[in-house]
Amino acid sequence: MTQSVANDFIRDIIRRDNEHQTYGGRVQTRFPPEPNGYLHIGHAKAITVDFGTAEEFGGICNLRLDDTNPDTEETEYVDSIVADIEWLGFHPAKLLHASDYFGQLYAWAEYLIGQGQAFVDDSDTGTISAERGGFGKPGVESAYRSRTVEENLDLFRRMKAGEFPDGTRVLRARIDMQSENMALRDPVMYRIRHSHHFRTGDDWCVYPTYDWAHGQSDAIEGVTHSICTLEFDTHRPLYDWYLSHLPLPGDQPKQIEFARLEFTHTVTSKRRLAKLVTDGTVDGWDDARMPTLQGLRRRGYPAAAIRAFCTEIGTTRTNSRQSIEALESYVRRELNTIAQRRMAVLNPLRLVIDNWPTDTTGTPVVEYFDVANNPENAGDGTRQVAFSGELWIEADDFAEVPPPKFFRLTVGREVRLRGAYLVTATGVEHDPGGKVVAVHATYDPATRGGDAPDGRKVKSTMHWVSTAHATDITVGLYGRLFTTQVPGEATGEALDDLNPNSREIVRGLAEAAIADAAPGQVLQFERLGYFAADLDTASVFHRTVGLRDEWAAIQKRQG
Ligand code: ATP
Ligand code: MG
Repeated sequence: MTQSVANDFIRDIIRRDNEHQTYGGRVQTRFPPEPNGYLHIGHAKAITVDFGTAEEFGGICNLRLDDTNPDTEETEYVDSIVADIEWLGFHPAKLLHASDYFGQLYAWAEYLIGQGQAFVDDSDTGTISAERGGFGKPGVESAYRSRTVEENLDLFRRMKAGEFPDGTRVLRARIDMQSENMALRDPVMYRIRHSHHFRTGDDWCVYPTYDWAHGQSDAIEGVTHSICTLEFDTHRPLYDWYLSHLPLPGDQPKQIEFARLEFTHTVTSKRRLAKLVTDGTVDGWDDARMPTLQGLRRRGYPAAAIRAFCTEIGTTRTNSRQSIEALESYVRRELNTIAQRRMAVLNPLRLVIDNWPTDTTGTPVVEYFDVANNPENAGDGTRQVAFSGELWIEADDFAEVPPPKFFRLTVGREVRLRGAYLVTATGVEHDPGGKVVAVHATYDPATRGGDAPDGRKVKSTMHWVSTAHATDITVGLYGRLFTTQVPGEATGEALDDLNPNSREIVRGLAEAAIADAAPGQVLQFERLGYFAADLDTASVFHRTVGLRDEWAAIQKRQG
């Protein structure tokens, strides 16, 4: 089977490895989240790269939970990660945990001690950190660096046996305190934590660091290409050092780094997102304003749009920030083909058609219009929409004193009520405060369906909902979560730029068919945008995106 394979530096590396039979033509990747929070849009990029690359080369990609920090990790997060990957449309070959390898990692640590390449350090964290030095500032060798193998083995075993309190000792690799690369200055491999681990319980009180766990876990699983983000670039020599000093069961995996995906007006840091949740700034990890996959899903972002965006922006080694409007453009494009149309009014004003007929009992006649559910997709069929003599229209669609270029309804002007009739406003009703509470109009019975037989034109078409047939809805309208393009650019703290008005909740009125919306279904409310039915609460909708493509406008401005 031939497949079209995109060109980027990662694929180039893999093709070269395949040509040279480096891994016998095998391609295996992994997605290694730490289960300490929910996945966000940045992770979607990593998932697309990890799973997408393996898939293209006929390889496999496992999900490996990097559960080496017992204090911050929980099963709740594991479950959400598993669900989110499936939602995005990827299927891990296996579900694995770094904690599965605690025994092997421990054995390899003893092996390195035996080789004189690791030692137990009794220094406190402050001393270790000061002795590491900095850029252009050489490190200082620890006073404990020249312990004998026997002494190190004894102490390390006693660390594992639980003889020492947290923070009193660490195991360090014995590499090079003069290295230009800080990662190689005797990095910590194990720290003491008397903590309960959500999988291994109280079996361990020494836990491996990321650097010590990661490459070795890759090797144990048979990973060939370990793809991660650019901040691990300087850790690659350490990744290689560990692997080349151990008796591996198979091939030595290769770490490849790419630039993180970041967006304007939002953050992709689990720590900051967690703070929004604990501070109550948002309702939870799955709040429709959150850039988490669960938030985006509630908001109505289709998984296909996220996948397409992550694939089409390409993969590079240059850090940059994508415009959130560009992602919205993908969302809109996808929704335009799948979202059924409905009519809803979010800022209602009563429109009374004075010449509307009544039946013999004096009740206003009700007419039903057959309306296409989606002009982009005939397969979506039609629905019946009730029309009668009293309607809700959008308050913005009427002006008592029309400003220049206002083509919508005003007294004396004729407009189209979408799919129904042409109507002409004849007068207004005010409340005692002078506010317009109702507009009166007449309709032209000859214009059924919305077109005049004499061919006369109107300048605007408005949506409407029959008052007698309207369903109440609650709608969340969202602004950006952060007011600035680069949150925290000025102060260094993203949370300083939080938008205090990122959500407005309004009551609206919608045509009766709205009641049939399935949880999570996204509808286009005519002229208002795309709205997702809430996953949990009936009659609650979230505005996914508006209809206007702001990204197109931005690109035009940028020429
Ligand atoms: P945080 O720093 O917010 O805790 P993290 O990046 O450390 O997040 P992990 O759970 O360790 O989160 O990430 C799992 C994988 O996803 C890693 O390979 C990481 O490089 C990748 N990843 C995380 N954030 C992004 C991002 N913004 N863009 C691309 N990949 C990302
Ligand atoms: Mg991490």
